[in-house]
Amino acid sequence: MTTVSSEQQQAVAGAQSDGSAVQKCAIIVVIDPGHGDRLKAGNPVDPGAVSGTIYESNIALDVGKKLKSKLEAKTDCIQAVYLTREGEITEVRPRLKWRVAIAKEKKANLFISLHLDAAGASASGQSALYHPSYPHSKTLASTVAGRAKIIKSRGAKSRDNLYVINLKYFGPDTKASILIELGFITNDADRNACQTQGDAIAQEIADSVADFVLANKAIFSATPKAAAGTPANVPIPRPRPTNR
Ligand SMILES: [Zn+2]
Repeated sequence: MTTVSSEQQQAVAGAQSDGSAVQKCAIIVVIDPGHGDRLKAGNPVDPGAVSGTIYESNIALDVGKKLKSKLEAKTDCIQAVYLTREGEITEVRPRLKWRVAIAKEKKANLFISLHLDAAGASASGQSALYHPSYPHSKTLASTVAGRAKIIKSRGAKSRDNLYVINLKYFGPDTKASILIELGFITNDADRNACQTQGDAIAQEIADSVADFVLANKAIFSATPKAAAGTPANVPIPRPRPTNR
């Protein structure tokens, strides 16, 4: 549980009771619906995990669009929200790098990638993944995990091998990046919830992001440090079985 002082609330509102201006809480979020891109000429667009005719890429996009509108309604703390894609990307793009390039271009403060897990039919639940080197990402992941009710959370989980949550590939503005596995596309209840309750799932995530921002405003006003590297000269560490 996080409490917000009246001082913080006034700061978020943009003015103190005496009328003097204070720093506005104005966070830029980039939402990244996984897959849905073309990795090689001649390849089909990557559907991600598939269950019958249901594609992970389409569910991630649908929930991503809903999350964008939910976040845009948080006008006390969110300045702008962008999607890395609004449909299928049919031109060939370098795996994953183009997604992080959008975060850099938009000067994203937060990056949230959306995926679904796949396994046997009995596995279920939402997971929020963070890179172990970045404590703010861990806090955001834990906040998301703490609010997940529609699809029960499996918790916040550390992963050191996912490109889109490794902040060394991002610019200095990005303070946290997480990858949410919304549920298991291979589980009937999870898949069904993603398809029919996407609005409520997006609301849970948006509420978590707002909680996190309000409780951690100081990290977004810190002096930016120079980026450690640029995507052009930082190779992707190693190939992975999944595109995330
Ligand atoms: Zn995926």
